[in-house]
Amino acid sequence: MLFETLSVFPELFEPYMSTSIMGRARSKGLFDFKSYDLRDWTHDRHRTVDDAPFGGGAGMLMKVEPLYEAITAIANQGDVKPRVVFFTPCGEPFTQQVARRLSATERILFVCGRYEGMDERAYDLADERLSIGDYVLTGGELPAMVVTDAIVRLLPGALGNEMGSVDESFSTADDGGLLEYEQYTRPADFMGHAVPEVLLSGDHAKVDAWRRANALERTCRWRPDLIASARLTDEELERAQELIDRFHGDSHE
Ligand code: SAM
Repeated sequence: MLFETLSVFPELFEPYMSTSIMGRARSKGLFDFKSYDLRDWTHDRHRTVDDAPFGGGAGMLMKVEPLYEAITAIANQGDVKPRVVFFTPCGEPFTQQVARRLSATERILFVCGRYEGMDERAYDLADERLSIGDYVLTGGELPAMVVTDAIVRLLPGALGNEMGSVDESFSTADDGGLLEYEQYTRPADFMGHAVPEVLLSGDHAKVDAWRRANALERTCRWRPDLIASARLTDEELERAQELIDRFHGDSHE
């Protein structure tokens, strides 16, 4: 899989893309990464990529011409056209499900905004627009790293342990996932806080049952919004309703 980024700070990516799991997956050839400098597609002495918005208002906008030239030139390299993904707080929310969908793509070009965003006409070049959350960052470089990271760890072989991403939060199925259950390592007792007894029992069936119940409880407590799309048995659904009432009873009144 090939990830490419187009931004005005292309130097930000390399350290992340060559460290830890990302670095190992890249050395194993599971993905490759290239970053492009948008200023390479400007034609003036100052390598200008921004301009003031028509109609007035604070800040500057990214100009459409360098974006158009850059995306067209990058897309025309190689045999496979990239999926062109623009980052904007106005995009589709990025989720684990979107990560799974994009992990089947051969080539992705992430277009990272800066300033107050882009001339709206630039979005005509987008196959999709993604937001990584309901907050505003200074640029699209962190979103590009967030999304690349989430996709890379789904690539077979990236985690070294194929089960690694199966049990995680949001990952139990295409949808309908719960948050991950609590996990503990040694010591079994830390300053009087003991690990749940069942995890030390060696009884795998009991451990699995405890984990499922714990995942349900945590989801009801911290992300009750996920329960509506979670795949639950009738018994679990009843339990979820009790838990949501217990944790959020007041806010429902
Ligand atoms: N004025 C824009 C607005 O209110 O929607 C925000 C522009 S932001 C300061 C600059 C760039 O950062 C955006 O063009 C986008 O590429 C990136 N960005 C900021 N927050 C983001 C988010 N939550 N998700 C994805 N990209 C984001």
